[in-house]
Amino acid sequence: MHAKASIAKLAASEASGRVIDRCLQIHGGRGYDRSYAVERLYRELRVDRIWEGTSEIQRLIIANELIKRGSGVLHLPTA
Ligand SMILES: Cc1cc2nc3c(=O)[nH]c(=O)nc-3n(C[C@H](O)[C@H](O)[C@H](O)COP(=O)(O)OP(=O)(O)OC[C@H]3O[C@@H](n4cnc5c(N)ncnc54)[C@H](O)[C@@H]3O)c2cc1C
Repeated sequence: MHAKASIAKLAASEASGRVIDRCLQIHGGRGYDRSYAVERLYRELRVDRIWEGTSEIQRLIIANELIKRGSGVLHLPTA
């Protein structure tokens, strides 16, 4: 479960970071302005790559589990 939780946290926080970065770019200078919600979202999502285990630490956990248990740790249960 460690690797799976790390994959979920890493994928979600990195994806949301890419999405909000594009949102801010679309808004131009206003996206950087504190009076716009996109600026707040950018700051709020940025910390997701830091707290509860940084992205680098998630990658270390995934790599260690792959070394210990092989690629089977990546398999998700099927319904
Ligand atoms: C707004 C906010 C709220 C927080 N709230 C809480 C809370 O309620 N409870 C709590 O316990 N903590 C909380 N934290 C702390 C948070 O969990 C830590 O900031 C986080 O774990 C990263 O630790 P650090 O800041 O000491 O960074 P460091 O560990 O100093 O890391 C600095 C950088 O080095 C990288 N790095 C570190 N070690 C390695 C390595 N071995 N290999 C590769 N790269 C590495 C990191 O990925 C990062 O990029 C909060 C942090 C923030 C910003």
